[in-house]
Amino acid sequence: MERAAGATIKDLKDFAARSPQPAYRRAGYKGQLKQAGNNLVGLCPFHDERVPSFKIALQDSGKVTAGHFKCFGCRLSGRIIDFRLRQLNSSDLTAEIIKDLARDLGVDGYGHTKTQSSPTPASQEPHAPICQELVDKLHNHLLQKPDRLQKLLETKGLPETTVSLGQIGWDGERYTIPIPDGNGGYSDIR
Ligand SMILES: [Zn+2]
Repeated sequence: MERAAGATIKDLKDFAARSPQPAYRRAGYKGQLKQAGNNLVGLCPFHDERVPSFKIALQDSGKVTAGHFKCFGCRLSGRIIDFRLRQLNSSDLTAEIIKDLARDLGVDGYGHTKTQSSPTPASQEPHAPICQELVDKLHNHLLQKPDRLQKLLETKGLPETTVSLGQIGWDGERYTIPIPDGNGGYSDIR
């Protein structure tokens, strides 16, 4: 059974389909991703290239499934768990790998079956270095969703300046708040 600490491969796949960009960022994709049609496009992390041919599908279309990746250079493709396996240079899918990826993605259900105590949910968030590009993208994403922005302003009673000064974003699933590290960068995104 492909199940570890409450998260299944399907949970990971569903998360990647709902929030492709945050999913691949959290899974460790470090390059720039630009939207082109129904895909995010960037440099392939698995082969050396100058012209981006690595694509992540944003939507289901034809034979393509949302949240799956495909490189038109080296022909690698698959689900986000396959992306992780390729990063590990492994073809041996273990419960540990699923669990690690679930933790990196912050997928719901992780840790809730075994451990009861989680006083600070934020501590489960991955602590990858936060780059300004990611903060900008999440923030721009929110600005492109007027209904989400409006809801945030209404429910939290925040002035719009706080949203822009705090670089509050939207990852397709929830609001994101970058935590400044005091050195002009960010230590975390919550
Ligand atoms: Zn490639």
